[in-house]
Amino acid sequence: MTKARVLVVGAGPAGLAAGVRLLEQGRAKVEVTMVHMGHHLGGKAASYTDAYGRTVEHGWHMMLGFYGRLRGLMRRAGADEGQALASLAGKSHAYEPANGRLSTLDSGGGRLSAAASFADYAGMPLDDRLHFGRFMSQAYALALSGEDLEQHDDLCFTRWAIEHGLRPHVTRYSLFRLFRDGYFNFPEQISAYHVLRTLKLMSTSEDAEAFCARGPYSERVWAPIGRRFESLGGKIEPYTLVRGLVYDGRRVRALDVARPDPGGHRDGRTSWSTPSIPHEAGSERRIEGFDHVISTIPQAVFVTLNPQDDRLWASPYFARMKNLRSVSTMSLTIRTREPALPYPGPVHGFPAPLGIATNMTRYLDTYTRGGQAGSEIQFVGQEAGFETWSDDDVTNFTLDNLARIPGGDLRKAGITYAELHRNRSDFERIFVCEPGVQRFRPGVRTPFENLFLAGDWVRNEVDVVCMEAAVASGEAACDAVLARVGS
Ligand SMILES: Cc1cc2nc3c(=O)[nH]c(=O)nc-3n(C[C@H](O)[C@H](O)[C@H](O)COP(=O)(O)OP(=O)(O)OC[C@H]3O[C@@H](n4cnc5c(N)ncnc54)[C@H](O)[C@@H]3O)c2cc1C
Repeated sequence: MTKARVLVVGAGPAGLAAGVRLLEQGRAKVEVTMVHMGHHLGGKAASYTDAYGRTVEHGWHMMLGFYGRLRGLMRRAGADEGQALASLAGKSHAYEPANGRLSTLDSGGGRLSAAASFADYAGMPLDDRLHFGRFMSQAYALALSGEDLEQHDDLCFTRWAIEHGLRPHVTRYSLFRLFRDGYFNFPEQISAYHVLRTLKLMSTSEDAEAFCARGPYSERVWAPIGRRFESLGGKIEPYTLVRGLVYDGRRVRALDVARPDPGGHRDGRTSWSTPSIPHEAGSERRIEGFDHVISTIPQAVFVTLNPQDDRLWASPYFARMKNLRSVSTMSLTIRTREPALPYPGPVHGFPAPLGIATNMTRYLDTYTRGGQAGSEIQFVGQEAGFETWSDDDVTNFTLDNLARIPGGDLRKAGITYAELHRNRSDFERIFVCEPGVQRFRPGVRTPFENLFLAGDWVRNEVDVVCMEAAVASGEAACDAVLARVGS
């Protein structure tokens, strides 16, 4: 039997999940090639150390207990979870700038422990915390009630909360903004659907457990999955930038690709300085000879394909994608000579742009096993409103803010390394789950019978923007292809 040829575009969580599943479930029926524009696997969730010893990443990533699909994929790829991941034991902290208090939050026990930590929160007066704890218990109850949560998508969570009885002034506390900050939805508002969906996904103690990688994600998580794909017969072609779809009738016939230009688009540090990536002159070519394509290209890049193709972009299916938005994230890594920031898990609530700080010293192998001294603090956030600030301005502002909490003065601990990234390019930007977003998100199937979409921005069973959602959508796209091949 002739096998169907499937081309997977992208080697982030969605592409890797789709590629592995295609070969695990349909090896007798399909052959699979994966092309991606970079070299390291993992897409926005990639992180690695470059030849100059610099940390290259989009920003700090954590996994949650409900990431069953991703963890299953890791297990099948032979990645030892204990070696790859460290548990944060459900611990995080919230800083309340209004009164300078820092409180420990414990979501490790699911909704019950989360509600209890809200009630203990030192950043609010007692009456407000009891009120907030009751409100959040009701929000969890609604999230788990089985009602269709998507009906709440048109409202932002702040408005939704007030309409559901939260005292308006409580929405000003950084504790209330945790989800919005965590999804990088500021200054934009976050859709109430996305918050309720997250509460549902994190309701049990097992689901709410948090993990981070003990070393670079590309090495610990994505490389074993890539090797699994190759061991099943899949081929990976790096440095292949897709620039356009070539189609006729109802099928995509070819992809226009080129080799990305390896120089000239970085701004001297490790951030990309142009929205779209230039390609090497003369490297343009056409990929043909496939039967099906799964595109896991991020939303901000997908809408730049076929720029002159008015017919494609005027069609209702593709036109609505242009209503979706993506934003630039930022990350900062600081290493210090002396130990600093003595708190397990992330500390939230600092002013933008880098509002979340995590001391990785107790999780990274370089410190726990390699004997490196000092600390490594990773900050993550969103750039909006700070585009004109210099890297030094952002770094100093962030250090000043962290220095307000005990143990947070990193300058005093002796800074030995600082690396700031602005993830501005289209392929680096993260999809924003703002109110009303659901009606514009596409599903896996497209008007082209052989083109399937996947990625965290495509509707899927998880649906909130994260690695697990990307994996879920990749697996759904795989199932849609196999169903088409089977028929
Ligand atoms: C700063 C930051 C922090 C985050 N923190 C977390 C977190 O803590 N937990 C969590 O679960 N998620 C987190 N996320 C989200 C997570 O990274 C994404 O949800 C996930 O990477 C999406 O996977 P994907 O496969 O859909 O897309 P991507 O990861 O973007 O992968 C897309 C792939 O397509 C390739 N590609 C793009 N354009 C082209 C093109 N034109 N031609 C060829 N190939 C192309 C890319 O090279 C890449 O291989 C974070 C994201 C950011 C930016």
